[in-house]
Amino acid sequence: MSDIFVIVGPSGVGKGTVLRELLEREPRCWLSVSATTRPPRPGEADGADYFFVTPEGFDDLVRQGGMLEWALVHGANRYGTPKEPVLRALDEGRVPILEVDLDGARQIRRSLPEAEQIFMAPPSWQELERRLAERGTDRRELAAVGEFDAVVVNDSVSRATDELLHIMGLAG
Ligand code: 5GP
Repeated sequence: MSDIFVIVGPSGVGKGTVLRELLEREPRCWLSVSATTRPPRPGEADGADYFFVTPEGFDDLVRQGGMLEWALVHGANRYGTPKEPVLRALDEGRVPILEVDLDGARQIRRSLPEAEQIFMAPPSWQELERRLAERGTDRRELAAVGEFDAVVVNDSVSRATDELLHIMGLAG
């Protein structure tokens, strides 16, 4: 069993819904709150959905070595995983889950090779493409599926959650 789990998947695949159910069912799991330079969307709270920071604040965190990984996502804004809260969660015996993009996952594969990397896939890529305005990043992620330790198909939220808990060694 690995101590840290990384989750990647195309937008629209339902990562957020599955992770919410996972956190409800398994209090030992802890979801990392990322820092981002993008502005909050209506209803998003600082410190809960993201840490909303200025570009200068983001630069400072990176310079101080405070990010486990960071990436420019969709060519627009920077997103990163603050290191300190992850270390604290590990110290408290919790199981950190990092939801990042493909670039972030690749960085973590180099810096924390023991972290288990999970790809969340849609039941049908065709259907996902129909639902989404098609984005280059999603294709890039699809092409990278083979880099991951496990693939979980989100055909049903409760089934995908069961499978994740099983992979994490937290089932039953
Ligand atoms: P959104 O702006 O829609 O909340 O997120 C856009 C993208 O940013 C998502 O695909 C998500 O995977 C990625 N993302 C969110 N947090 C992080 C992070 O901490 N690091 C990296 N590399 N990507 C992130």
